[in-house]
Amino acid sequence: MKVGILGGGLCGLVAGSKIKNSVILEADSSPGGHCRSEISDGYTYDIGGPHIIFSRNKKILNYMKNALGDYMNYGLRDNKCFYKGDFVNYPFENGIYELDPSVRLNFIKDFFNADRIGHPKKNLNDWFYQRFGPSLSKEYLVPYNDKIWNIKSKNLTSDWVEGRIPMPSDEDMLKVACGLSTVGYSHQAKFIYPKSGGIQRLTSYFLDKCRDIKLNEKIKKVQKVKGKWIVETSKNSYEFDKLISTIPIHDLLKCIDNVPKKVISSAKKLKFNSLINIALGFKLSRKHTHTAVYIPNPEYLPHRISFPRNFSSSNVPKGRELVNLEITTNFNDKIYNEDKNNLKDISIKLLKDLGYINKQKIEYFNIFKTKHAYVVRDKFYREALKMSLSFIKNKSIISLGRNAEFEYINMDEAIRRTFEVLKTHSFK
Ligand SMILES: Cc1cc2nc3c(=O)[nH]c(=O)nc-3n(C[C@H](O)[C@H](O)[C@H](O)COP(=O)(O)OP(=O)(O)OC[C@H]3O[C@@H](n4cnc5c(N)ncnc54)[C@H](O)[C@@H]3O)c2cc1C
Repeated sequence: MKVGILGGGLCGLVAGSKIKNSVILEADSSPGGHCRSEISDGYTYDIGGPHIIFSRNKKILNYMKNALGDYMNYGLRDNKCFYKGDFVNYPFENGIYELDPSVRLNFIKDFFNADRIGHPKKNLNDWFYQRFGPSLSKEYLVPYNDKIWNIKSKNLTSDWVEGRIPMPSDEDMLKVACGLSTVGYSHQAKFIYPKSGGIQRLTSYFLDKCRDIKLNEKIKKVQKVKGKWIVETSKNSYEFDKLISTIPIHDLLKCIDNVPKKVISSAKKLKFNSLINIALGFKLSRKHTHTAVYIPNPEYLPHRISFPRNFSSSNVPKGRELVNLEITTNFNDKIYNEDKNNLKDISIKLLKDLGYINKQKIEYFNIFKTKHAYVVRDKFYREALKMSLSFIKNKSIISLGRNAEFEYINMDEAIRRTFEVLKTHSFK
């Protein structure tokens, strides 16, 4: 049986490394999808935003560790939340132990008065107020989430957050009230990041095991002719017995003929966010251990900045700092198409305001854009996804991965789902 794998991101590469008679068709000139890294002028960073390795799933975590082998390296999270000119430890609700007791008191009082066990409110904004109380919500959680999701959190559902946005325990919050430090979101407090080569080190492991991968081959048409799948790309035509699609669900539907109108209109309701990732390299002026800083302030475009130097020292030349600034936006909107130099100026201003740059010259500057970055779960999401996915399933195409299944999943879950597909389908 010949298997066609559409897309050579993490899922496509893991599947391709395991299925003997398979061909991966990838639109880009390099494989890895979100998990690609840029190495230039001595700087290394991840194109699709910083990718750290962590998981509650021990089996998958071990699998990723083994894949990295000698390149495996542990890092310690030192994330901060930028709050009223201060750096508060991440997650914010745990970090407020550092704030002035009079400010802290309000947060804590509201937290303990909140309904933390009742039936969850339906929209994300209300869910924050319900679970964390008004002060934490108003001061940090809502403005930060409005920014990263590029949509008001009252227009997002909350059916995905329980377990995903971690709730601090009462004991933790009592400690916080007393000014004692606690570690929230602890399964991520110690993370793994490749010693060198960026996150692409992980995908390279699978790439080496793939039998056949074609690059620069964008899928254009997918059709079944006499029991075989005919896949037309920008360059060639291929024949397969079975198809796994890891490409964005919207794009796959555009490649199939005679898709019913109701499916097309449901796919149009599936909203996603794009990402701009700006990289700036300069002389290091202040040695710090920050890994990322979350910025809820609406006056700054980036919602998060990160420091690849503190993921692995080999990510920067000696004595240099590298900062990645992430902006979520709509595909092709004004910000997405903003002039590069304006984005550079905006970034420099933010880094100066935060004290990471004094008068240093910017020695390195680059920008990467990812069209399909974040799945936006608004009120249309569930129904629209169900309709689109069931149409694809009825065609006997296997949907796999973050953009094909259109779910907010991390690398561990992407790998787990690939294993699940390998277990539940025959590819012999
Ligand atoms: C900003 C950001 C930060 C993240 N941080 C982390 C993190 O710290 N830790 C973590 O575990 N996870 C993280 N993730 C999640 C992680 O990136 C994904 O779970 C994982 O990469 C999904 O892999 P995939 O194969 O499903 O998708 P993709 O990587 O999207 O792969 C799909 C592939 O299909 C190709 N393709 C698309 N259209 C076509 C076409 N028409 N024809 C041919 N090929 C096509 C693409 O070029 C791509 O290579 C992050 C994601 C984002 C967006």
